[in-house]
Amino acid sequence: MVNRTLLKNATIVSMDDAIGDLARGDILIEGETIAAVAPCIAARDAVVVNAAGMVAIPGLVNSHIHTWEVALRGIGSDWVSARDYFGTMHSNLTHRFEAEDNRVVNLFGALSAIDGGTTTIFDWCHNLRHGEMADAAIDGLEASGIRAVFGHGTAKTMYETKAEGGRSYAEIGQPRAEVHRLRTGRLASDERRVTMALAILGPDWSTYEVTESDIRLAREYGLINSAHTFGRKGKRMTPDGMWRLAKAGLLGPDHNVVHGNCFEDDELRMIVEAGCSVSATCMAELLNCERPALLGRWERFGGVPSIGTDVDPYFSASMLAEMRRAFLHQRELDNAAAAAAGRYPPAAHATTTRSALRWATIGGAKALRLDHRIGSLTPGKQADIVLVRGSDMNLFPGLPGGDPVHMVVMSAEAANVDSVLVAGEFVKRHGRLLYPEIALRQLKSDLLAVRERVMRKGGYVYTPVREGERLFAA
Ligand SMILES: [Zn+2]
Repeated sequence: MVNRTLLKNATIVSMDDAIGDLARGDILIEGETIAAVAPCIAARDAVVVNAAGMVAIPGLVNSHIHTWEVALRGIGSDWVSARDYFGTMHSNLTHRFEAEDNRVVNLFGALSAIDGGTTTIFDWCHNLRHGEMADAAIDGLEASGIRAVFGHGTAKTMYETKAEGGRSYAEIGQPRAEVHRLRTGRLASDERRVTMALAILGPDWSTYEVTESDIRLAREYGLINSAHTFGRKGKRMTPDGMWRLAKAGLLGPDHNVVHGNCFEDDELRMIVEAGCSVSATCMAELLNCERPALLGRWERFGGVPSIGTDVDPYFSASMLAEMRRAFLHQRELDNAAAAAAGRYPPAAHATTTRSALRWATIGGAKALRLDHRIGSLTPGKQADIVLVRGSDMNLFPGLPGGDPVHMVVMSAEAANVDSVLVAGEFVKRHGRLLYPEIALRQLKSDLLAVRERVMRKGGYVYTPVREGERLFAA
């Protein structure tokens, strides 16, 4: 007999057009999946959870995060663009991580995500130097209970080394044997909680030959592939790379573009029409990109964007915060564009808080090609559900009467996340993670040890930075 749980009397935001929103309704969960969503469900044998006064939303999907960077939270204050980020992270600290460090930081990063209502992450793991590091990173994800796509990436060697045969990182593709080992081993299934993808360099960061062979490798193993591609004129390793990939039939729904801010319209249109997905990481891009995030522009060409948090050295990965910032960013762009065209105020806003919730749920699910399983509260899909408590001081008395989507996007914080379910299983309840408290205390102390060792080995100065002091070792 499969376990049945009935979430009773919630305000339901399904993000499924056929179901819509229910001011008061029930969600029946059978085992891992949603069995029914309706105003009133009778299920005598189900365990009943009182969700009155709470907003039920689909679990949030973070479509781009380097979870290993969680260990380095807070160090990125006022870094200037690529110089400080790449200099500090990829030239230096990335290489100080060992296998066990990846387990610790991925477990903590995933628990931190769950705490804030995120149920799925695309862990873009690009500090890997060998298989043990990948296995440890996957161990960490699996131990947390989160749903994750593990993006197998490679650490960048920013200088030529003998070990790499004198080649630069841009000439080194994904290690085929390692991809084969994982894909025919523990990540063979696409049905498990943790699945696999390739986090590739792509045309901005590698030679065309490397990009092409990485994408062909991903296709051979039935994996989505994702690349950081800004499209900056004059700064791309392979400037016509996206066009060449399209010509070779290598752009499709299995290709995920991260950022894409600097694409000109013709290239952008081609990429959207090829069916690719985009991960806009608005907060990171606002800090360090000269052009706006690809949200409204992507939509204008017919795509649904997804959003992600990207880089924890700047701010902790919170999809609630990212969603709010992405919404405000696009609304500001819309307003400025309308004013510039002499059409302000517009008859209606093109970007709403519901747009942002769509980017963070079904948009993310589509980017990860998991929209048949997650991204909306739809019977038959996995029961990845978040309950947001409306009775808390910062949300009360918004329900009933207020727009629950607007409340969640504009006002909700991790502290308001009462419960999180992944595949029908509570991983946070009554405002507390279900991960054992003693184990969490140990995990925090382990993470602190990782952070201190990585920074010490990298010669990183992390006590108050004074005027003129170097941020990282030469
Ligand atoms: Zn990134």
